[in-house]
Amino acid sequence: MRVYNFAAGPSTLPIEVLEKAQAEFLDFAGTGMSVCEISHRDKAYDAVVKQAEALVRELLNVPEDYAVIFVQGGASQQFAAIPLNLMHNGKADYIVTGNFAKKAWQEGQIYGEAVKIGDSSDKTYTYIPNVDTLNYSPDADYVHITSNNTIFGTRYDKFPTCKAPLVADMSSEIFSREIDVSKFGVIYAGAQKNLAPAGVTIVIAKRELIQNPLKICPTMLKWKIQDENGSLYNTPPCFSIYMAKLVLESLKAKGGVAAINQVNEYKAKLLYDFIDNSSFYTNSVVPQFRSIMNVPFVTPNAELDAKFIAESKKAGLVSLKGHRLVGGMRASIYNAMPVEGVKALVEFMKKFEMENK
Ligand SMILES: *Cc1c(COP(=O)(O)O)cnc(C)c1O
Repeated sequence: MRVYNFAAGPSTLPIEVLEKAQAEFLDFAGTGMSVCEISHRDKAYDAVVKQAEALVRELLNVPEDYAVIFVQGGASQQFAAIPLNLMHNGKADYIVTGNFAKKAWQEGQIYGEAVKIGDSSDKTYTYIPNVDTLNYSPDADYVHITSNNTIFGTRYDKFPTCKAPLVADMSSEIFSREIDVSKFGVIYAGAQKNLAPAGVTIVIAKRELIQNPLKICPTMLKWKIQDENGSLYNTPPCFSIYMAKLVLESLKAKGGVAAINQVNEYKAKLLYDFIDNSSFYTNSVVPQFRSIMNVPFVTPNAELDAKFIAESKKAGLVSLKGHRLVGGMRASIYNAMPVEGVKALVEFMKKFEMENK
């Protein structure tokens, strides 16, 4: 039996995508081989990368003068690639709104002056600092943000308007809501949250910004090189890019990002409304900044949290354990989580509350 998987990442994928991958696994595009076995220089595979790129461009309305590349090493590798490609004056601003934002900031410090201009750790990252009143450095090479904070369940309701290029880690929300790519210098996202299996990371970067990586930048981390080679400078994560292509095709068939965003808002509202109307469950994020992808919540005590996790698992609702930094529960309700999954969770929560109040 397939369960409802609320894991934060790797996470649930659309069933029709898994079925399609299964159906063509032994004979991909008439090659008589699986997509894991053909050369990345094969025409059939080249088409996969080109289609995946075209779908990213179409679904996010990416301007012509932006590179769209598929790279390896996860979002964490990009924490280093960002300064190595962009830090020409040796200085960048970081807004620290969670654990990954902090890691990005710490990695930035290896390469130059990484200035923490905003920090919401005083209230365990339950809010996003006011982006209009931050002290942006006039000589920063870029401003880095984490647009959706996977562990703490917050998201930016509006983005900074700053002079320096805005660099955004969108790992846990890319393709979940409409964004104006032209407002960003760089957008990057590890695939395993909302897009594909682990192994591939998408980087969308304004080309004029990426022409002069630092001298010490490893070739593999030079976005310019990856762009010039159409993400095929070396062997790419073939299977993950192929799966990303299938997920993007499925998203397009469902009406694209605007359509899925409506579904996402609806799913999140079901869950938050239920939590807010209950005296048993609590979500402590400031409502204005609540993520529609990751929803942390707790029961009245840690013992009941543990019981909730054990019993929900038996009910076919899995991976609801919160991140170790937060405790409690976390429901990740990415694009691929059907409305029925969220309804099943809410029903379970009702029942658990009645039995344990
Ligand atoms: C998961 C996650 C990361 C880390 O991704 P890796 O691919 O494991 O390196 C970074 N940023 C955010 C926002 C994430 O959700």
